Amino acid sequence: MDIAMLYVSTRNAEEKVTASQAVLKGLARNGGLFVPEQIPTLDVPVEKLADMTYQETAYEVMKLFLTDYTEEELKTCIEKAYDEKFDTAEIAPLVKAQDVSYLELFHGATIAFKDMALSILPHLLITAARKNEVTNDIVILTATSGDTGKAALAGFAEVEGTKIIVFYPKDGVSPIQQKQMVTQKGDNTFVVGINGNFDQAQTGVKQMFSDSALAQELDRAGYQFSSANSINIGRLVPQIVYYVYAYAKMVKTGEIKNGERMNVVVPTGNFGNILAAFYAKNMGLPIGKLICASNENKVLYDFFTTGTYDKNREFILTSSPSMDILISSNLERLIYRIAGDNADKNLELMNSLQEHGAYTITEEMREQLASFYGNYASEAETAAAIREIYGQTGYIIDTHTAVAAAVYRKYREETNDTTKAVIASTASPYKFTRSVMTAIDQKYDSKPDFELVDELESLSKVRVPQAIEDIRTAPVLHNTICEVEEMEQVVKKFLGV
Ligand SMILES: *Cc1c(COP(=O)(O)O)cnc(C)c1O
Repeated sequence: MDIAMLYVSTRNAEEKVTASQAVLKGLARNGGLFVPEQIPTLDVPVEKLADMTYQETAYEVMKLFLTDYTEEELKTCIEKAYDEKFDTAEIAPLVKAQDVSYLELFHGATIAFKDMALSILPHLLITAARKNEVTNDIVILTATSGDTGKAALAGFAEVEGTKIIVFYPKDGVSPIQQKQMVTQKGDNTFVVGINGNFDQAQTGVKQMFSDSALAQELDRAGYQFSSANSINIGRLVPQIVYYVYAYAKMVKTGEIKNGERMNVVVPTGNFGNILAAFYAKNMGLPIGKLICASNENKVLYDFFTTGTYDKNREFILTSSPSMDILISSNLERLIYRIAGDNADKNLELMNSLQEHGAYTITEEMREQLASFYGNYASEAETAAAIREIYGQTGYIIDTHTAVAAAVYRKYREETNDTTKAVIASTASPYKFTRSVMTAIDQKYDSKPDFELVDELESLSKVRVPQAIEDIRTAPVLHNTICEVEEMEQVVKKFLGV
């Protein structure tokens, strides 16, 4: 690779960095996101991709974006990430049910799609640190409302040169989520419950990030903070891989012909997953429509239908909690792009979002959204999708995936578009057992959680994943609880500073 890919901030055209620097920094100055200066073209023919493993495909895609990583570095990161932590050698298998293929992105350590990126991010990060002559250990500091914390813990556990500290609201996560986190193994992991809510945890973490005295103190002790946030380019790039992989496998199995288009349906929250599909399309992958599925927090549906993004609305708790989001951070990368890669225009809109909670794009920008289709599913429609797909095929999908399935049905009815489609299946039904089982039949609601797990196994004939078995029996390894004001102290104590 001789052409270096640089990354530029969506809020400041002057700020340009290499790929490894973008991974290391996470966020650009004044809240900007790093985007590749141009989207590279996929340079391997589909016939060749069709015979590649997931790991080989990952290399072909990621090398185009992470140009300052050597072949050996990148291949090592990939091998360490996509290994036996996944319960299938295919890593991301395709399963056909009715007239659509489900791309199962939940075979990693925490049985949800965040594992696809968080299993490789630690390796990309630590490699970036070494390349940029950072000798400090990297300390990942995260506040979590549940899912991201566990996926980050699983990704960073035992990764040399890193430590990870996760703060969660003690009474603000589900019992299963809490059990998943406090049973985390690995000497470099540290999980702390706080007597406060998620916002307080988040604020505490942000304060530590911006405290320069603390940064100096840590530096003297050989540490520096970093973040595993979903806007890190090191999380976005690995997500492009599975769309390329899925297309090639669709061709290999004869589901589509080489060159034929494939639609993609994505249950969306922060807009990271569907943005990866958009990037794949821009690389030349024959993707037709990008179907953006929302739950009742339908801020993106409204955006695609009106051109106005407006977060001023009631926040609704749904059965697809990972999509309960009113600010889709990664949408900024699309906004920047349809503004003609114009950082000033993007900044103006983001300032409006900050000040008024809303912005409206121009007609010219809207015209560039033609490949997107947005819709949403109500709670009843989501449950109905689970029940009907199970009834007709025996296949059981989780609540997030069901939002996508319900939206896809609406799309087909509205458009009669018969292009073959892939639905991104973002979580194992075992992660949301109660919602899934009661969608199938209300009678299950009276049963305790682990009984439902066994019922789900007998209905779906899919074995209970190790991640669930683990929390039945695993010992609690983390029992630190602290006040909001003590977060910094707790961090220092763990690091021995
Ligand atoms: C995070 C998450 C999503 C949303 O993905 P985004 O990239 O934030 O749009 C959907 N489903 C599940 C299960 C998730 O964990």
